[in-house]
Amino acid sequence: MAAPKPQFDCNNCPAYCCSYPEIPVKKRDIKRLAKHFSIDVEVARKRFTKWDGEKKERVMRHRDDEHFVTACRFLDQETRNCTIYEARPQICRDFPGTRRCGYYDFLMFERDLLDDPDYVSTTDNVD
Ligand code: SF4
Ligand code: SF4
Repeated sequence: MAAPKPQFDCNNCPAYCCSYPEIPVKKRDIKRLAKHFSIDVEVARKRFTKWDGEKKERVMRHRDDEHFVTACRFLDQETRNCTIYEARPQICRDFPGTRRCGYYDFLMFERDLLDDPDYVSTTDNVD
């Protein structure tokens, strides 16, 4: 039997999930990144990830983002797509893990409410 169809469309979303501040990365994720960029694992670890003292785990580094305060450093600011899709961490492959995406549901709720199919809440228009 075919898998149930997802109730979200990433192509219609500004990549909210990539703006999540603590995107955890494991050793094998860093190894994959190092291989992708043909660099040393230790260099990849420092360049692409940082230690989150509160969560006690390594997370993806962010950079400034047009829509959100910051987003993963690998998010393309124009296309809103992942620039390292083949080498993205496991958590990015697994998310949201269900047929529904909470971020997407909220996005659709806002767009319905404002009757604007292109609306994206940003740090500028959120009070
Ligand atoms: S927030 Fe949800 S709908 Fe948007 S890109 Fe991420 S998984 Fe896709
Ligand atoms: S690695 Fe790609 S999919 Fe994962 S958070 Fe960064 S931009 Fe998003």
